[in-house]
Amino acid sequence: MPESLKQVSVLHLPVHLCPDYLSWLRSRLENGQTTHIVTLNSEMAMLAERTPPLTQVIKQAELVIPDGAGVIFYLRLRRHQQQRCPGIELAASLLEYIGHHQPNVPIVFYGGAPGVAQKAAHYWENRSPHLNITAYHGYLSPSEEEQLKEFLQTTQPRVIFVGLGVPRQEYWIAQHRHLCPQAIWIGVGGSFDIWGGVKSRAPMWLRENHLEWLYRLYQEPWRWRRMLVLPQFALRAFVK
Ligand code: UDP
Repeated sequence: MPESLKQVSVLHLPVHLCPDYLSWLRSRLENGQTTHIVTLNSEMAMLAERTPPLTQVIKQAELVIPDGAGVIFYLRLRRHQQQRCPGIELAASLLEYIGHHQPNVPIVFYGGAPGVAQKAAHYWENRSPHLNITAYHGYLSPSEEEQLKEFLQTTQPRVIFVGLGVPRQEYWIAQHRHLCPQAIWIGVGGSFDIWGGVKSRAPMWLRENHLEWLYRLYQEPWRWRRMLVLPQFALRAFVK
């Protein structure tokens, strides 16, 4: 029996609560039901608030998971007992599941600096030899992007991981999802950088204390301006 989703709202955006997202996705994958997964954090929620086209895309997504600590904080204030579901972890569980149960299903990694998605694909293929991943970097010329689209149309991959950063990856998925109407599409941000060994995730004790964002700031100090919205989000969590 597939898990069901409960939709709630975070700053007027949908978020889907579920005790086991992977089970829900497995059933979507097995039934060939097209699915766009958005991994919502407070930065994206604040960006969506001032960017109506991004709000539209998030509202159309079949699955919006609570990726960030701020979103969980918002939900807890409203007595929703949902666990955080970082997108990189859901993406990894999906790859592990496919590697074990759906050998050779075509998968695409798209995004990251040249060579990085390839390294990420090798990392996963070494862990699970039955994975069949084709990698494209995220700085394609217009003609290379046409080749990618052709590849999507002819190969019909079942899962497409798009790591172009927010909001580019969300727009890209919304524009191209018709090319593979049975696929799961997920925006994975900088996950290829992590799987490809270019960056590292925060140590577990920081993640457990909801401080992953602080580690990102330490690794990528240029993020400080983007992160100014985080206290604004926290304030909004209290008042709305
Ligand atoms: N990126 C890309 N093409 C672009 C811009 C960015 O492939 O035109 C990649 C970049 O190399 C990085 C990812 O997008 O791997 C963005 O990662 P980030 O952690 O910044 O994601 P976000 O915080 O936006 O989710």
